[in-house]
Amino acid sequence: MAEPREDMSAFESVTFFFNEVADQVGLDDQTREVLSGTYREIRVQIPLRRDNGSVETLYGYRVQHNGARGPYKGGVRYHPSADLDEVRALAALMTWKTAVADVPFGGAKGGIKVDPTALSLTEQERMTRRFMGQVSYIVGVNRDIMAPDMNTNAQTMAWMMDAYGQRAGHSPGIVTGKPVELGGSLGRDAATGRGVVMVTNEAVSDAGTSPDRLTMAVQGFGNVGSWTARLAAADGYRVVAVSDVGGAIHNPRGLNINDLMDHLRDSGSVAGYPDSEALTNEELLELDVDVLVPAALGEVITKSNADRIKAQWVAEGANHPVTPVADRMLVDNGVVVIPDILANAGGVTVSYFEWTQNIQQFSWEEDRVNAELGKHMRTAYQQVRDYGRARSCDLRHAAFAIAVERVATAAHLRGYV
Ligand code: GLU
Repeated sequence: MAEPREDMSAFESVTFFFNEVADQVGLDDQTREVLSGTYREIRVQIPLRRDNGSVETLYGYRVQHNGARGPYKGGVRYHPSADLDEVRALAALMTWKTAVADVPFGGAKGGIKVDPTALSLTEQERMTRRFMGQVSYIVGVNRDIMAPDMNTNAQTMAWMMDAYGQRAGHSPGIVTGKPVELGGSLGRDAATGRGVVMVTNEAVSDAGTSPDRLTMAVQGFGNVGSWTARLAAADGYRVVAVSDVGGAIHNPRGLNINDLMDHLRDSGSVAGYPDSEALTNEELLELDVDVLVPAALGEVITKSNADRIKAQWVAEGANHPVTPVADRMLVDNGVVVIPDILANAGGVTVSYFEWTQNIQQFSWEEDRVNAELGKHMRTAYQQVRDYGRARSCDLRHAAFAIAVERVATAAHLRGYV
């Protein structure tokens, strides 16, 4: 079996996991070649007129990885690290994620290499509309559907929908994660965090314990991290530490997450919250907690800190937070890693519900959304767990194996290979 290298790029890392599993499930060489590559990749230039009249030249990307199981699907991130390799890696993860969650989509991802915190709201709007205009000929309600990701949100989706609609006519199904007022689904905002908590609950219950006996630390307090912390606390976990770009806070007796949300609204960061001690984001990862949820950037658990992770469960709220070398170290140390393509699949699952509601021009009540999400997440978790038990492999390799088999079957049935 090939050894992972710590200097692999994000796409090389995802391909490494894919190749390990392709060996395990005995994928033939031709199918392996089709599934490891991407279908289409575009880079577009985005000249952005700043509010002061100057023009900044930005670059945006959309990568469609595989569409055998349905229209391409995946978010768009605004981040200085977004480049073709990262977007390609995240697009491939979306193919495997939609397959594990068993929603009828392929995988795609987009990004603009930019620091959006340096842009005003009107600059963000101009940039978003121009990006959508430039990729509009490769997306479509039945072709490729975008959604929020890092530093993008419901407002971003509203601009995208409007920009696309100016060409194609009213098309709410062109994006998911929209504001509810424009056809977004109830429950979509919380869905990724809710899914993280649902699968974590399944994993801890398999180990014979329950949330009220466990502590949790959450790295990142954006959409995924903040909802994970809130819903985990509501389910009984003692959430002892959270963080954002401003730093981490720790209180061994547990944080009052609702109170913390007020502090965040007033001050702009979780840092400085009273009744807590300050930590760095790196220190948070190494806390002596039961459950660790990395829900911020990619590649935060690496060869250099994996041996210091004390959590029993690592639930990947973020995409690709653990490098392949670190993944082996965690597994060797007996840590149960719930992989991104399972743990954070709740977002795209409710995106699927949103898309179906848009197509039917009908909206579901929130209870129905959450109940259907629960069914998908529990089924996905149980299938992955059972596959892993039957073949003595960890959850990541089990999840990849199920996904690769599903996508390969669809590709064969269509006659791709
Ligand atoms: N960006 C999210 C993810 O990485 C959601 C994608 C979607 O809803 O299409 O899973």
